[in-house]
Amino acid sequence: MRKILVVGAGQSGLQLALGLQTKGYEVTLMSNRTADEIRTGRVMSTQCMFDTALRHERDLQINFWEQQAPKIEGVGVSVAGPDGGRAVDWLGRLGGFAQSVDQRVKMAGWLDVFAQRGGQLVIHGASVSDLDFFARTYDLVLVAAGKGELVSMFERNAARSVFDAPQRALAVSYVHGLGPRPEHPDTEAVRCNLVPGVGELFVMPTLTTSGRADILFWEGVPGGPVDAFAGVKDPSEHLALTLELMERFTPWEYARATKVELTDAHATLAGRYAPVVRNPVGRLPGGGLVLGVADVVVANDPITGQGSNSASKCAASYLSSILMHGDKPFDEAWMKATFDKYWFTSGKPVTQWTNAMLGVPPEHVLNLIGAAGQLPPVANRFANGFDNPADFDAYFYDPQDAADYLAEVTASSAGDAPSGDPSGAASGASSAE
Ligand SMILES: Cc1cc2nc3c(=O)[nH]c(=O)nc-3n(C[C@H](O)[C@H](O)[C@H](O)COP(=O)(O)OP(=O)(O)OC[C@H]3O[C@@H](n4cnc5c(N)ncnc54)[C@H](O)[C@@H]3O)c2cc1C
Repeated sequence: MRKILVVGAGQSGLQLALGLQTKGYEVTLMSNRTADEIRTGRVMSTQCMFDTALRHERDLQINFWEQQAPKIEGVGVSVAGPDGGRAVDWLGRLGGFAQSVDQRVKMAGWLDVFAQRGGQLVIHGASVSDLDFFARTYDLVLVAAGKGELVSMFERNAARSVFDAPQRALAVSYVHGLGPRPEHPDTEAVRCNLVPGVGELFVMPTLTTSGRADILFWEGVPGGPVDAFAGVKDPSEHLALTLELMERFTPWEYARATKVELTDAHATLAGRYAPVVRNPVGRLPGGGLVLGVADVVVANDPITGQGSNSASKCAASYLSSILMHGDKPFDEAWMKATFDKYWFTSGKPVTQWTNAMLGVPPEHVLNLIGAAGQLPPVANRFANGFDNPADFDAYFYDPQDAADYLAEVTASSAGDAPSGDPSGAASGASSAE
């Protein structure tokens, strides 16, 4: 039986460990926290996952919270106008639902299941010297330790890393008591509120330790008015500041947030990190090799909500590469090929789209986002790009591609009934929502 060590019990590490375990590998999982420490600790993410990523969990039958978690049917985009109202406001419909399950719930639950199924769980914060020792006793060492210190083993790939500093300051609050958006009261959706020059407010439903909740997530342009959470230590001050900024920049979201309260004592998170792509193979002092997984090798800003999706896709891709490799040695060539398969299918399109969304949008992107208010197919396609970011390549980056696409949709919509939108699939920029 082949022996594999997985370091890090997050989305990618646990998904891989559980998948390998099911396939009969002898898996050791090293986590720097116990399940209870994770469950009662601080929130870590907003972790909204779309259809493809959720399907990978379903394939392994580890989608334990699917029935309880809110089913997210749409992605809405609102752009703040100069008058404090909304210059753009629409909702795109997802082909398959998305879900956010608090990582405290999911990772703690998966850790317990891994141990119950006989997996060897080691609670220990692994160091490079630990890995140096273990690399000799395992057939393969996978480092899935997120953005922790072990990333120092993996060289930054300068050609693939566009930024060398954080592009947003992040501030998350999990709350109970948020009202629905009045224009679509029965539709669960991720709401992306873009405030030009200031940042973005994302609002989405989640399943947390105390049941259904909503997340308020500010992404602030560094040095701007939303980049204000660094010194805030008290959770209630963090929430008060979140709401104050909502009232100032996104009053339509504030209107439904006047009665919210934090879900628990650890329901807030603030921080920032620089997006980075690293080389996938780490070389240990003793000469052993380790393979980096998910955020260790490709860490994007959460502005596009892709990291957990990518972690799931990376874990699924690596699992299939490991299975296909049979009994052959997991050498450097295999490690590079395994990463390349993930990078070219998922990592690269996500990185390209995320980096584009961090910049000032060019005119053709503004046109696309604006036109989606009148053209439901454009809104729907944009929303489904969160599931399959490779699709943006066909119409989003190049001004001519965008113009061609809009002309095509406009022509095919010309024959459709112009008034109303019985499906509620999109509402126009001028709608009085
Ligand atoms: C504010 C915010 C919002 C986000 N929102 C979304 C979203 O809506 N959708 C989405 O898809 N993604 C989102 N992400 C990104 C997503 O959370 C991450 O990309 C994803 O969790 C990465 O998974 P991973 O398995 O690579 O690493 P992680 O989930 O970070 O897991 C790594 C694990 O390894 C452990 N560890 C670290 N060092 C060691 C060590 N030395 N030894 C042992 N264990 C170690 C850590 O404690 C952790 O448990 C968001 C991120 C942030 C910060």
